[in-house]
Amino acid sequence: MALRVIFWGTRGSIPVSLDCASLRDKLASAVVSASGEGLDTPEKARAWVDSKLDFAVSHTFGGNSACVQLDAGDGEFVVCDLGSGVRAFGSEIFTRDGPSKKNSFHVFLSHVHWDHIMGFPFFGPAYVAGNRIRIYGCHTEIEEALRRQQDPPSFPVPFDTFAASIEFVTLEPGRSYEVAGWTVTGRLQNHSGDSYGYRFVRDGKVIVYSTDSEHRLDIPDEVEGAATFFADADLVIFDAMYSLAEAVSVKEDWGHSSNIVAVELCQLAGAKHLVLFHHEPANNDERIAKIWHETLRYEEISRTGRALRVSAAYDGMEIEL
Ligand SMILES: [Zn+2]
Ligand SMILES: [Zn+2]
Repeated sequence: MALRVIFWGTRGSIPVSLDCASLRDKLASAVVSASGEGLDTPEKARAWVDSKLDFAVSHTFGGNSACVQLDAGDGEFVVCDLGSGVRAFGSEIFTRDGPSKKNSFHVFLSHVHWDHIMGFPFFGPAYVAGNRIRIYGCHTEIEEALRRQQDPPSFPVPFDTFAASIEFVTLEPGRSYEVAGWTVTGRLQNHSGDSYGYRFVRDGKVIVYSTDSEHRLDIPDEVEGAATFFADADLVIFDAMYSLAEAVSVKEDWGHSSNIVAVELCQLAGAKHLVLFHHEPANNDERIAKIWHETLRYEEISRTGRALRVSAAYDGMEIEL
């Protein structure tokens, strides 16, 4: 069965929603574009939206903060990060299976910055007895951080209210582990308080989840380490929060990377598909689409070997490998 990657949360730092003015602008653009197209049924209109409308008009990027599911179709749930997107993931499981079906969840945490853990108190399956949740990470303070965000007076429901069994597993970076059918290896990344990327291998396919990492192309060891970690990946989910101009000027040392660094590292590593992830909350859809198109163009002009596919993540995006 094919492996699927499902993006439940793709925004960085803080969740954002599409505001009224932006929605109105999208509707106005769509109405103007649709004039004379004879879209007199919802089916025709939907097909036209999917095929003809600009992506930034028909979609919205980001929304919830980081949460990505890896699905091998075997009933095991593997998730990277517990940003606000995990609430939508939990709701989907309840809608599909009902709350009484018992499940196992394997969660890999990049780090415990708030945008990567804030969804956990809203993760429905954590309140259901019989569910098992194992939380893996290379930081030793994960349990403390998750408990603390639910302590009074910050949150009304304490961590101990969860009825599911919750276990914490500390991983050693650089060592490979077998978890739920995947071989997983963590790697230390340059970020305030440290973060860890994860390389997942299964059925000959490689998926790298690397968020909240400031890659420095001027440090050869760092470049080599990242390229080895990304080597021949089928999919690299990459923290491309900034444009290159931002990353090398005002936002240097802010702990995130740019779209250009993403392309260069993926090319060096021979990766096949790059997903721009952890979008800057100040960027609207037009701005993110512009960064995406610049990235596509940069990939084209800098290409020396095989083409690298480039996508910009949005909540609800699914990629099949
Ligand atoms: Zn983050
Ligand atoms: Zn962070």
